[in-house]
Amino acid sequence: MVMRVRLSKTFHFEAAHDLPTFPDRHKCRRLHGHSFRFDVVVEGDVDPAKGYLIDYGEIKQAAEPVVNQLDHYYLNEIEGLNNPTAENLARWIWLKLKPALPLLAAIIVHETCTSGCEYNGK
Ligand SMILES: [Zn+2]
Repeated sequence: MVMRVRLSKTFHFEAAHDLPTFPDRHKCRRLHGHSFRFDVVVEGDVDPAKGYLIDYGEIKQAAEPVVNQLDHYYLNEIEGLNNPTAENLARWIWLKLKPALPLLAAIIVHETCTSGCEYNGK
């Protein structure tokens, strides 16, 4: 019997950004920072002999270099992130992680405690 599961692991980083495509007087146009959080979600079938899908350590190994590229940076200055909305950031993280993590099913970026964006590669 095959068991399909989704696992997630959460990562944190602090960064500054501004959002150049927002309307002129919008608060997001001003330089500001967030304690960003993102969830890396993988999906697949559990190997019955092992009883697990993937070692969480593999997710950590893939994601840590990405966190290091983002943590305490001004996101707008990072290549590919000149417009660092949560949407673009989710896609940027996806593109960095997918080669190392073929089971990747979603990236969920939480910009604040109450606002998040999920991207699943489409
Ligand atoms: Zn913001």
